[in-house]
Amino acid sequence: MKKNGLLTNKCLHLLLFLKDIKIFFSSCDLCGQPCQTYPLLCGYCYQDLSLFMFNSVQGDLLNWPAIDRALPKNVFDRLICLAPYLWPFTQWLIQLKYNGRFEIAELFAQLLHDCWRSLSTTFITEPPQLILAVPLHVKKWQSRGFNQAHLIADAFSILTKIPYQAQAIIRTIHTDSQVGQSGRIRRKNLRNAFSLHSNQLVLPEHVILIDDVVTTGSTANEICKLLKKHGVKHITLLSVCLSLPK
Ligand SMILES: [Zn+2]
Repeated sequence: MKKNGLLTNKCLHLLLFLKDIKIFFSSCDLCGQPCQTYPLLCGYCYQDLSLFMFNSVQGDLLNWPAIDRALPKNVFDRLICLAPYLWPFTQWLIQLKYNGRFEIAELFAQLLHDCWRSLSTTFITEPPQLILAVPLHVKKWQSRGFNQAHLIADAFSILTKIPYQAQAIIRTIHTDSQVGQSGRIRRKNLRNAFSLHSNQLVLPEHVILIDDVVTTGSTANEICKLLKKHGVKHITLLSVCLSLPK
């Protein structure tokens, strides 16, 4: 299906057609009404979502002083998250990660795509050439069976037509859950936890890195350090939720 990391046009059109069919038969996960634009989400419930507003921060959450203060020493250059870590996103993330509801990854990808499209016409001056996702260590991948960030990135790549390389980054060190750990401890645990699949890999100047939730930014920062060592100049960190450390 993929040729040089890119879906062929025929496959792309088929996948987009299937997406429209899926929406037609989909009912809203929150209220049960028919869906119009997104799978699992009707127009009324979409209007009720607490999505971040980007116009006042020039398309970058790092321009929001409270967020910039909470995420010091960023190695990524732009931060785009759909929403704070609140219901219904919390419920959807749990269902995706622990109940294997993969259709939620498609909903996230479509919401991210619409957000990205509206920002890219006004604020994104450096068009990205590649999408990457935060990888799981093979042990965690084996126990879970999938990587939720990969599912979101793959669907987002189809919608944006920006190539996605699923294998580019490898997580070489297994860390236990980082939930509840301070930024300092997370940074220590994650030091040298990632490597590139091949030193021969040629990375473009602008990359989008996708994760499901950004908390301290430590994981993304470790990956961004590695990417910048290998020639990447501008990294947009794109995630579904932002859950700032308390
Ligand atoms: Zn609804």
